[in-house]
Amino acid sequence: MPELPEVDSYRTGLSSKMKGWKLKAGRTIWHNASDSDFNVVKNQEITDFDRRGKFLIINLDTHHIIIHLRMTGRIDIVEDRAPKHTTVEFDFHNQKKMCLVDFRKFGKVWIVEDINEIVGNLGIEPLERKFTGEKFKMMLSHRRGRLKPLLLNQRFIAGIGNYLADEILFRASLHPLRKANTLSDTEIRNLHRAIRHIIRKSIYFGGTTFLTFRGPEGKRGEFWKKLQIFRKTGEPCPHCKRPITRIIVAQRSTHLCENKQEYIKNVD
Ligand SMILES: [Zn+2]
Repeated sequence: MPELPEVDSYRTGLSSKMKGWKLKAGRTIWHNASDSDFNVVKNQEITDFDRRGKFLIINLDTHHIIIHLRMTGRIDIVEDRAPKHTTVEFDFHNQKKMCLVDFRKFGKVWIVEDINEIVGNLGIEPLERKFTGEKFKMMLSHRRGRLKPLLLNQRFIAGIGNYLADEILFRASLHPLRKANTLSDTEIRNLHRAIRHIIRKSIYFGGTTFLTFRGPEGKRGEFWKKLQIFRKTGEPCPHCKRPITRIIVAQRSTHLCENKQEYIKNVD
């Protein structure tokens, strides 16, 4: 499933290629994919690309195209006919097309003047300079929820999805069901470092390839080779060799080493 690192690889890959391209038109092919007015993009130029959480933002002269790939979406740049399962397409004056190709059709496109209409409620970006250890400690102090659902909460921190959350909690040696406000200062510091480390590393390796995701140019993400525990139920933990277990937390499949990520009852 496309998460922050996959979307970030689109941001860098497409921006090096598409800056300056001028739009001719755009349309929805699957009506549920967007209810924006596509006429406004006509003759606007792409000035830059951005990302907020898992949203890709394409900045135009006066508007922004915002894309969320959801479960199975990908973006293809083609010269002739749109690929099968295309739900939204944009035509450029250079005869190229940008297509949202989405087998399960949950991906969305918005065209807005103010990006905050769509991404205004997102939490802090984990790699931003202002996401400091002190800031994180404050953010956690009044949270009574459990760690895994909290990390997945896009209004808390933007962009952490299921596999990143499992890898982060494993690295920080924290149980997914620990309550956020029970962490010691050292645990908070370790969690903060693990968030930044795992996200940086996953961006560096271009994300993973679960389901249908392919990066720009069809390049495959390499981060799946670096995963320590996600989808490795029964395999030996890279840390202590005990088998990795799988539990369900907030309806999400969750992988952990119950030895490294001990569940501490007395503080829960
Ligand atoms: Zn272990």
